[in-house]
Amino acid sequence: MSGVDPKVIDGKAFAAALRGRIAAVVADLKSNHDLTPGLAVVLVGENPASQIYVRSKGKQTEETGMNSFQHTLPADTSQDALLSLIASLNADPQVHGILVQLPLPDQIDEQAVIDAIDPAKDVDGFHVVNAGRLATGGKAMVPCTPLGCLMLLQDRLGDLTGLEAVIVGRSNIVGKPMAQLLLGANCTVTVAHSRTRDLPGVCRRADILVAAVGRPQMIKGDWIKPGAAVIDVGINRIDSGGDRPKIVGDVDFAGAKEWAAAITPVPGGVGPMTIAVLLRNTVVAACRQRGIAEPAL
Ligand code: NDP
Repeated sequence: MSGVDPKVIDGKAFAAALRGRIAAVVADLKSNHDLTPGLAVVLVGENPASQIYVRSKGKQTEETGMNSFQHTLPADTSQDALLSLIASLNADPQVHGILVQLPLPDQIDEQAVIDAIDPAKDVDGFHVVNAGRLATGGKAMVPCTPLGCLMLLQDRLGDLTGLEAVIVGRSNIVGKPMAQLLLGANCTVTVAHSRTRDLPGVCRRADILVAAVGRPQMIKGDWIKPGAAVIDVGINRIDSGGDRPKIVGDVDFAGAKEWAAAITPVPGGVGPMTIAVLLRNTVVAACRQRGIAEPAL
């Protein structure tokens, strides 16, 4: 399992270490700046997966010593009611980060909700101001999952300058910000998608391959350049004949591990990084809002 095989990138251990560093920074902010970073998480409706995510976000926020504010609204909440909650969170000085758990029920326009969050408190990094700042090299709030992937890559490979990076997937929450981050780290970046010709051939060019597709085990072992680093963002539930669905990534892990020099498992790779980076972003947002030097996390 992860941790034992040196090829396997142990995201769970990395995330735990990051949370430890965050807790130390939070303790310092409390005692030296009278500042307790606060994260507000808003859940609309009763999507079971969202309920699990929101619970673990709240628990981990408190474990690092921060304030957690959870707002659970009924599934028939109107857009106006949600927007007025966001306005009150934008104005609340105890709240430094706001996260609205997606997906939202059909009567609510997700983009309008994202647009309503103060960009300074947009710890998901989905607001167009933050996407623009990331693309233009400004001081952005960076989406959690791709930033977590970058941290894992830099921890394993060090300087990424000059490496060929291929990202499969071009979503606004993973693929596109991942491309910006790798470009910022001086990689030569290719973004592949459902219309890409000869996807296996494109993947074989990659020193760094990031899979963010949402298709179980689509990327095969013989698509991997020998010695590549493979980051599997995918979370897919498949029927494995047991009582519960099995969770697999977008990469055929066993096949890819034969060729890769480093690879994230699913589960236990990128997944645990997402919440840890959310906590990191909340600390960074709190420091920026109070004019305190940003901690290196
Ligand atoms: P989206 O569905 O928004 O995007 C999927 C992308 O994959 C699209 O750009 C699509 O191309 C591309 N794609 C689909 N089929 C193919 C194909 N056959 N060949 C090449 N490209 C293809 O997904 P997300 O980016 O939101 O998520 C991707 C995966 O990552 C999912 O499994 C999701 O569950 C997981 N995820 C995990 C997180 C974590 O914390 N670990 C966080 C967020 C997501 P096109 O644009 O042309 O349609």
